[in-house]
Amino acid sequence: MKTETPRPILLKDYRPPNYLIDHVDLDVALAPERTRVHARLQLRPNPAFEGELGALRLDGEMLELESARLDGRALRPADYSLSDKELVIGKAPARAFVLDLVTFCNPEANKALSGLYRSRGIYCTQCEAQGFRRITYFLDRPDVLATYTTRLEAPCAEAPVLLSNGNPTEQGVLDGGKRHFAVWHDPHPKPSYLFALVGGDLAHLASDFETASGRKVALKIYVEPGKEGRCAWAMDALKRAMRWDEERFGREYDLDVFNIVAVSDFNMGAMENKGLNIFNDALVLASPETASDQSFADIERVIAHEYFHNWTGNRITCRDWFQLCLKEGLTVFRDQEFCADQRSATVQRIRDVRNLKARQFPEDGGPLAHPVRPDRYIEINNFYTATVYEKGAELIRMLQTLLGRDGFRQGLDLYFERHDGQAATVEEFVACFEDSSGKSLRQFMTWYAQAGTPELVCKLKWDRRAQTAELTITQHLPPTPGEARKRPLHIPVRLGLIGHNGHDLDLVLASGERLDDGLLQLSKRSETFRFRGVSSRPVASLLRGFSAPANLSIDHSEAELEFLMANDSDLYNRWQAAQDYATRVLVAHVKALRADKTPERPDAFVKALGVTAANHELDPGYRAQFLFLPSESDIARVLGRDVDPLAIHLARKGLRKAIGTMLKSVLLDIYTRYEVKGRYSPASEFANQRALRNAALGYLTSRGRREDIARVVAHFDTARNATDELNALAMLSELRSPERTRAFSRYYARWNKDHLVIDNWFAYQAVSPLASALAGVEKLTQHPLFSMQNPNKVRALIGTFAASNPVNFNRPDGKGYDFVAKRVLELDRFNPQIAARLLSAFRSWKMLEPQRRRLAKKTLGHIAKTKPLSPDVAEIVGKMLE
Ligand SMILES: [Zn+2]
Repeated sequence: MKTETPRPILLKDYRPPNYLIDHVDLDVALAPERTRVHARLQLRPNPAFEGELGALRLDGEMLELESARLDGRALRPADYSLSDKELVIGKAPARAFVLDLVTFCNPEANKALSGLYRSRGIYCTQCEAQGFRRITYFLDRPDVLATYTTRLEAPCAEAPVLLSNGNPTEQGVLDGGKRHFAVWHDPHPKPSYLFALVGGDLAHLASDFETASGRKVALKIYVEPGKEGRCAWAMDALKRAMRWDEERFGREYDLDVFNIVAVSDFNMGAMENKGLNIFNDALVLASPETASDQSFADIERVIAHEYFHNWTGNRITCRDWFQLCLKEGLTVFRDQEFCADQRSATVQRIRDVRNLKARQFPEDGGPLAHPVRPDRYIEINNFYTATVYEKGAELIRMLQTLLGRDGFRQGLDLYFERHDGQAATVEEFVACFEDSSGKSLRQFMTWYAQAGTPELVCKLKWDRRAQTAELTITQHLPPTPGEARKRPLHIPVRLGLIGHNGHDLDLVLASGERLDDGLLQLSKRSETFRFRGVSSRPVASLLRGFSAPANLSIDHSEAELEFLMANDSDLYNRWQAAQDYATRVLVAHVKALRADKTPERPDAFVKALGVTAANHELDPGYRAQFLFLPSESDIARVLGRDVDPLAIHLARKGLRKAIGTMLKSVLLDIYTRYEVKGRYSPASEFANQRALRNAALGYLTSRGRREDIARVVAHFDTARNATDELNALAMLSELRSPERTRAFSRYYARWNKDHLVIDNWFAYQAVSPLASALAGVEKLTQHPLFSMQNPNKVRALIGTFAASNPVNFNRPDGKGYDFVAKRVLELDRFNPQIAARLLSAFRSWKMLEPQRRRLAKKTLGHIAKTKPLSPDVAEIVGKMLE
């Protein structure tokens, strides 16, 4: 085993490739343990490469080379060298030439799920970021774009379906019908990470779509036989996404077919391979009994996301992996906008911000902080992060806010026009918006280069005599690892000043300029804005719609928060005011608990919450969001140091109980009023009613009386859809009672034959705050339905425990840390990507109180000392301990 420390790869070292590959012919004979790949590569020197041409270095891993021929002549051993990472041809011609390589790989043994592997008997591939090098030797980097013709061959019985990128051109039988083949041609030049193939016994659901210009596209979703009935929602979402991208961004689909394949073993959610998207089956399969409203919404979003990549990612790709946000941030923004149009825009915004704060803010505030465009990495797979995706999307949203919706669209149109068919950079992307708008975005670029969440400290002063208001905003930029000093950012701050009657005041600056769109642009460390004609003391509503990914601090009184909760014309900020108020109550409660004092009663807050909960003029989905308290990790993040997860849990539990008790009649009314009758529909109108009703039930259950337990048991027993069933199961999982045991047995008996649905059974046991949870989870790792080799199972059981059970992961005896560490090391032997991801559950360890911090550090130290470690895990643990 090698023990060398891997060297980081730096953005500043980027050089264009010395050779280009224009076309690839692949001939793949599928066999479980010995798949033969004949690759014919058409190469030529890259005219853009400066300096001595040098050797041709082709990436390759886990391959067995049978033969190599250059322009038809076999290469002699002296002509090339081979290592476990590359094939190097010392003197490749300085002209165009053809390289024929025959290699073997072993899909069955591939448990890293990168490259070509088998999932429940189905051959499939995952090539992003660097999996293609496990299929053949190649210039496996995103700035080498080639057209592909792929011939697949397999026994008919084993793989009756053979798919690859592009359009089908030929198929036929061989060996008197025992074997068959299919040829696919993709005319669009693409980087190797977008290559895909699938072979297996698959059923499908078919439909079609006519594009705006009249092109007919055949759509197919392939799944395990018997699951076709669960694809209708995904197909529906796909068609809506295709239409939406035409209408909103003028983007049409460009091949004759669009195929989606669902597989069970998948490291990520889904992959946007050109014309052949491959999905984790959890993000395709849905029926009312098997999938919750949340799953339906996730499927809609991810189907749209991968489809949108066809333009933002595939037709225009990334020059190098440092530019990952160029495709991901932009495409997440596009899927968020799609969902906002399909559902309630405010509810969607709240969900997106909640997600950002839950996943990205802790990353930005801990040892794993990195810029949206990192400038170094050891293992690129570690950079598929909330920062690159979710904060990356916020950067795009800020561009839209700064330029206006039309201005943004013009810039994006220019980007498509200018860079179609290219591998681009963030600079080239932003230049399109500068060129189309005539505005400078130089300072805005800092957002891409600088890590950390800015804090906006705001002070509002009102002058009764002069009838003016003065708003001072100071941006604090906390240091992040390796970056002590920060430059000020260009920040769009959307605001309103609300008068005592609850209405927004006209915003007129002292200069006389009217701020009709309520948008301030901050560019200095501290700036003061003066407003005139302010006749009564206003309440400031800042960062409306969450106009920038920042923490806001302004000392609103509790009365002002209550006022905003009831009056803010920006519904997003009304919700934010409720969250801020709840946070304040919870933080005070935690501090009281830790000081052994009796916490203050939360009556004023609960009363204010009740007003909105009972307001039937507001959308039920919005009210459900209003009722959800900040999560335990939100509170931990606000506390920032000396965090005791148990105290946070108890404080939150106490507040939930107070809400259930004080608002009992409002909650009971909601529970009765919003029972959805008739056939299940995943449409947001009905999903929102279920969300509100289940939120009410949750609070009533937290009272813990016999009648409350009876209610949730009845809810579980009579549930007619997965949403109600799972919500009840989640509530029951927190109770120490025979009803809990009974519910889990019943769920198991009902779903143990379904490898996907049973993941809920694992997850809801893993999330339980009961002291017995760790022992239960440990036992479940031995369950016959559990497998460490299936990422969905690992995520459901161990991932949920590590990331969503703060009380038990952070047990004061450190046993939660030890358990997760052991699993990380076990996984690292065969699937480093999943191991590294699981390890990132430790990202906030430095905030913990001293005892837990010491134990977490000890556990991390143990991981760091283990040999061998994959570069994936070594990089993450190294950063955690820096
Ligand atoms: Zn993506």
